[in-house]
Order: sequence, then structure tokens, then C-alpha cells
Amino acid sequence: MRRLSLSRQSVAYIAILGTALIVAVISGWLATPIDDYAYDWMFRQHPPPPAVPHCVILAIDDATYRAMGGVREYRKMLAQALELVAPARPKAVAVDVVLADPEDSAEDARLESAMRGIKNLVLVAHLENGRWEEPLPRFLKTGARKGHDKADENSRDGVTRKIPLEQRAGRERNWALALTALQLARGEPIIESPQDLQIGNELIPAARTSEGNRPLRVLFAREAFPQVSLKDLVDRPQLAARFHDQVVFLGITSITASYDRVATPYGQERIPGVQVHAELFETLERGQFLTDASASGVLGFCLLTAVLFGLIFALLYGWPAYLFASILLAAVHVTPLLFFREGIVLPYFAPIATAWLTFFAGASYQHFVVRRQLRKSESDRQRYQQAIHFVTHEMRTPLTAIQGSSELMGRYNLSEEKRKQIADMINQESKRLARMIQTFLDVERLSDGQVELKTEPFSAREIVESCIQRARPLAERKNIRIQTNVLEGELQGDRELMEYAVYNLLTNAVKYSSTDTEIKVWSLPQGDRLRLSVKDQGIGMDAKELRQIFQKFYRTKRAEASGEAGTGIGLSIVEQIVTYHGGKMEVTSEPGKGSCFTVVLPAHSRASQPPPVSV
Ligand code: ADP
Repeated sequence: MRRLSLSRQSVAYIAILGTALIVAVISGWLATPIDDYAYDWMFRQHPPPPAVPHCVILAIDDATYRAMGGVREYRKMLAQALELVAPARPKAVAVDVVLADPEDSAEDARLESAMRGIKNLVLVAHLENGRWEEPLPRFLKTGARKGHDKADENSRDGVTRKIPLEQRAGRERNWALALTALQLARGEPIIESPQDLQIGNELIPAARTSEGNRPLRVLFAREAFPQVSLKDLVDRPQLAARFHDQVVFLGITSITASYDRVATPYGQERIPGVQVHAELFETLERGQFLTDASASGVLGFCLLTAVLFGLIFALLYGWPAYLFASILLAAVHVTPLLFFREGIVLPYFAPIATAWLTFFAGASYQHFVVRRQLRKSESDRQRYQQAIHFVTHEMRTPLTAIQGSSELMGRYNLSEEKRKQIADMINQESKRLARMIQTFLDVERLSDGQVELKTEPFSAREIVESCIQRARPLAERKNIRIQTNVLEGELQGDRELMEYAVYNLLTNAVKYSSTDTEIKVWSLPQGDRLRLSVKDQGIGMDAKELRQIFQKFYRTKRAEASGEAGTGIGLSIVEQIVTYHGGKMEVTSEPGKGSCFTVVLPAHSRASQPPPVSV
């Protein structure tokens, strides 16, 4: 029994922790803004270490626009930039400007010829509304390669954290501008697998997602990015030396003209799109990456957290449990940071929500279970006390009778007739004692929920008459008459228990009545109920006392003064028995005038019983 209830408790405990875990993991999916915020914070705490850059931005900045004729002249500017860069023999040049439409043909021709002078040229293939905007065929004919310029498309707050290395639309697929530039600079092919990309010896952990992308986290440098203004280059062509053996990202950085400025985890000012490509290039070139923890890894970590909190509150109580739980809570909070330092990005919200929820679930479960156990042991103690009172109160009378009678028999020479009378009495009283013990045990077991009530049919008359017979000697001592009126009605239930209840009401009526009074007992069916009443002309009770008489150990002052009061348990047991039979107690009383106790029970008709079957 104990083991069964224990295991049921464990199942409930595990279920509560499991629910907390599921809620935490699901809310983790919905809480990406918090994860992003935490990522940015960790990024700022641990920015990538400074490194020697391998690329330079050739910037069409505001000064260039002012000096070289404004936004409309951008193709001329590009042509001039490429012409100036070519002699420096850069490893590759990536032009971050969409060149999909023909413009002034003389300028396009100049640009085309400038392109021919660049060894590894990458032009933008721009994805717009699911369609690729390709560079003009004349530009591609120069031997230029393509690279897409898509930014962090999944970012909800406009902060660029990842860039898809691969972008698909229809049948066409393009690598990122920076990746194509790297491949050209290294002169190695891109070898792809679902998990990663490989260029030469370098493995890039950019797994293909269900969307067909390969997002990679960009390690934005904290330091200012190397940059040469096109205007300066035009003014001092010798600056081109800076591009020798470098990868050049040529693009618009002008604050007024560049439409693609993006926010980074550093949060301050936005940077132009061309710089994002350059930062991605440096990330690829550096060969150290930030990879996202796998979904199963995150789930495993959350599960481990839940299990640890569960164990803490299952094995420890009170302050040690809270101490260990607090340590674990702190550990879970710093774990994403520790992982981050190792290059693994763990979502922040799901593990922390798991920790807090399982912490609360474990702590509250422990609190309530411990409280319930305390309450149970308190009620066990009360039941034990009640049992002691019951034994001393109810069993003393028959025991005294048996003791006295047996002494009489032993001490005096009694006539045969007297001896038989006393022996009968001893027999009767010991039987009553046995019955009482049985009743007591039954009530005990009932309140413990261990036994079911017997359901035998019996008539109200049967039990009332048997009780009156037993109570009559008591009543006669006080010259109290017990009158029966109508005794009708059938009952169904536990006869022994019901008889105990009626006998208790009858003896109370005798105890709390003065001499030469009358007690009336009657029972009457009323609708589907049977009302069985015991009415006396005794000391009575006031309304306040009436409200308390069914509480264990309660006795009225009046009863105590009369010297008759017992332990105050009888009525609580009577009420318990009546309740178990689906009934209730009604009492009317007036101080000095008497009381009427009525047991209201569901009536039972014998006619409705199935006829006995003879075999
Ligand atoms: P006990 O009679 O052993 O004290 P009970 O539980 O049977 O315990 O009764 C509780 C209290 O209710 C009694 O102490 C008494 O004060 C009051 N009581 C019960 N029956 C009567 C009655 N018929 N008349 C007056 N008071 C009663």
C-alpha cells in the first residue's frame, strides 16, 4: 500500500517536472527575441580577438560622391575604381553594386573593359521577390563570377547576425559574395556536404537548413575596418598598393546614398552592406566559427537541468535543497556564456526557463507534499488519541460490570439461580464489548477508507427496539420512560454501525435528562427519506452549543455541570456513520426544555429488492 502510494507520488512528481520542461522548451521556441538579445550581449562580452585583415573596402563614400559627380555617376566611379585597382593585382575584387540594367552604353563599355582588367571579379546576383537580378550578360562575359548579397533574412529586429552562405531561387543557386571571393582568392573549389562546406583544408560549419540556406554567424570585428575612399585613391593612385594581394570589396558606404545599412550585435551605429560582406569574408578567412548548438543538444541540456532540479527536491529538504538549487540555477545562467566562449551558441531562454520552472515545480511540490504528510500524521495522531478516549469511555462500563460480577461469583456462595443470572450478564456484557470493538474497528477502517460499508437491508423497528432494550436499565435507574411512537421504514446499510449510532443518541438522551422524564423515539418515511428521531426533555443546548456538538471532544458546559458528560466523541462517530450511509443529522434543542436528534437517511423499500432465487 505504502509502496503503491509512493510510486504514484513519484509519477505525479515526474509529470509535473515534465510539464514544466515542455512549457519551457515550447516557450523557448517563441522567445527568439530574448535569445537574440542574449546573443548580442554575449557577443559584446566576447568579441572576436583582433586579427590582421585580409581584405580592404574600397569605399564610394560621401566625399567620393561630392568630388565625382553624385549618385548617378556610380558606373563611372566603378570603372575608375577598377582601373586604379587593377595594377595592384589584388587577389579578388567583389563589387557590391547591382548591375542588372543597362545604362549609358559608353559608360557600360568602359566598365566592361575595366572589369576585364581584374583577375578574380565577383558581381552581385540580387534576389528580389523570389527572382534573381543578374549582372548584365556583357559584364558576366568578362569572366566575372556571381555572389548573392542577401543579408540576415530571419532577423526580426533588423540586426544582422547570420548570413546565408547559399541562396536558392527556382533552379538557380548562388553562393554568398564573400564566399565566392574567398574561393577565387584561394583558387580552390567549394566542396559541399549537408553539414558543411569545404574550401581547401578549411571546413566551414554551415549546415543546410530546411529552407535550403546555409546560415553562418558573422564575427564582426570590434576594430574599425580597413577602408580606402575612392576619392583618395583617385587623388593619390599610389594608395592602390594597399590592395596588392588583398581581396577588395568595392561598394557604397555613403551615409546618404547607401540603402543597405544594417545593425550589428554591437548595437551602436549601422554599417554599410559592403562592410557586412567584408566582415563575413574575414570570418571565413579566420577559420574560427560560432556554431549553433543542435536542437537535440539543447533539448538534452534542458532535460538534464530538469532532472537535476527534480533530484535536488526529491532527495534534499529545506535549506540544503534551496542551496543546491540556487547553485544549479546560477550554473544554468552562466552555461550559455561558457559555451559561447567555446564557439557554441546555446539559446538562452529555453534552458533558463527550464531551470526556473522546474525549480518552482520541484520546490512547490515538495512544499505541498511535506505539508500534506504533516497534516496526515497530525490526523493519525488525533485518530490514535480518539481511539484511546473511545476505549476508556465506551468500554469502561461493560468492563466494570464484568469485573464486579465475576468478583461476586468468586467471593460469595451464590444460589444456582443467581449464579446463572450473573453468568448471563457477564456473557451479555462481554458480547457487547466484542460488538463495540467491532464497531470501533469498522469506524476506524471506514475513516481510513479501507473497507466498504455492508449493504444489508433492515427495518428501523429492529434496531430501535434492540437499542431500547439495551438502554432501558440505564433509563430505569433515573426513572425515565422510553416511549416508542410509529416505527416504520426500511433501511439499507451496516446494521451494526447504525445500531451503534441510535444507541448513542438514546444513551445521550438518558444521560442528559433529569429523573422522571420521558424519551420519545419514532421513525417515519418521508418521500425518499427516512426520519428517525430521539426526543428528550433534558438539559438541552443553545444555538452556539448546537453548532459544535459534532466536533470531536466537544462537551457543553451544561453537560459537564451535570456530571454526566463523557469524552465528547460519541456524536462525531454518529455523524460519521450517518454520513457514510448518505444521510445527515438534524438537531433541535432549547436549554432546559430538551433536545430532538433526527437521523435523516435515504429510505429503502424491500419491495424493490430482487426476489430471492432458489436453486
Ligand atoms: P459525550 O456524551 O460522551 O460527552 P457526545 O459526542 O455523545 O459525547 O456528545 C457531545 C456533547 O453533546 C455532550 O457532551 C453534550 O454536551 C451534548 N449532548 C449530546 N447529546 C445531548 C442531549 N441529548 N442533550 C443535551 N446535550 C447533549
